[in-house]
Amino acid sequence: MSNSKVFANQLINWYEHHKRDLPWRNTTDPYKIWLSEIVLQQTRVAQGLPYYEAFVNQYPTVFDLAEASETEVLRLWQGLGYYSRARNLHACAQTVVKDYNGKFPENFEGLLKLKGIGRYTAAAIASFAFEQPNAVVDGNVYRVLSRIFGMENDISSTNGPKIFESKANELLDPARPSSFNQAIMEFGAIQCSPKSPSCVLCPFSSTCFAYNHNCIDVLPVKTKKVKVSKRYFTYVVFRAGDLFCLKERGKKDVWQGLYDFHLLEAKEIQDIENVISLLNELGLRNCELGTLSKIYEHVLTHQRIFANFVEVKLPHDQMEQLLKITDQLSLYSIEQIRELPKPVLISKYLEDHIF
Ligand code: SF4
Repeated sequence: MSNSKVFANQLINWYEHHKRDLPWRNTTDPYKIWLSEIVLQQTRVAQGLPYYEAFVNQYPTVFDLAEASETEVLRLWQGLGYYSRARNLHACAQTVVKDYNGKFPENFEGLLKLKGIGRYTAAAIASFAFEQPNAVVDGNVYRVLSRIFGMENDISSTNGPKIFESKANELLDPARPSSFNQAIMEFGAIQCSPKSPSCVLCPFSSTCFAYNHNCIDVLPVKTKKVKVSKRYFTYVVFRAGDLFCLKERGKKDVWQGLYDFHLLEAKEIQDIENVISLLNELGLRNCELGTLSKIYEHVLTHQRIFANFVEVKLPHDQMEQLLKITDQLSLYSIEQIRELPKPVLISKYLEDHIF
């Protein structure tokens, strides 16, 4: 028996004994598999599971999802982050309905053409739904292969991912691609975890390079670190009676399509004097200015956002003036705000101060 076959057998055998019972594992429906894969990108299973279930309940088929509005989809996605995933999810569903009669392509290349589906997701759907022999390669797979086989290729380099993909395809059991792919990801998630792998109880411990050379902590190799920039937001919460001003966030920035308040962004957190200057610039004189809130912090992959809020109560005539000069703002009641898709930061402020 080839070394690849021995490896695949050991891995699948481990999987049969240790796998978690997750809803998307009991189906070959490409729609549900695709949904689960998009939800789980950059997300832990425990966090993604309720979202997956909510989407399947709300939109049982790709036709239901395609018919929904983008705002509804973003609202259901709220709290999961990386909102471009939700927008791509919706756009992809519409393409599948319009151009493919509601049927997902049944192979890797066909799936790759769809919006939001990269090599990993295409391989996952092709193998789980259609038993196509395409190996998945994600963070779990980098970790497992680099440790077991001592692969020191840099996963942040151009060539590194290609080398791992080629190795994974070489090891893949062509007779059982779905089981192999599920097994290697599950093994990386619960056995060969990033910080505390269970090496003593591992079926590969006698041959695992990293375990036997005491270099678990340095594999996989990743030299380029993500650069995180800091941003400082001061939100001015204009209200007239029980109506609040919000706007939909535009393109080319975080949280596209979600709703937030009037924003002052600067190189540092703003104080009340800056807010007073803004009110003067806007010609708003008869308003009631609240105090600045505590600072809320939100961490994204590339950004760390610090935000404070201040409420400004306006009489109705001043509100009309404001809406004329700032065409992006619109008025919403508290009930309407509850239904709008919002960044978590905004939801937290609303829970603390308004709802
Ligand atoms: S021995 Fe440890 S490092 Fe090696 S594959 Fe098993 S869990 Fe991972």
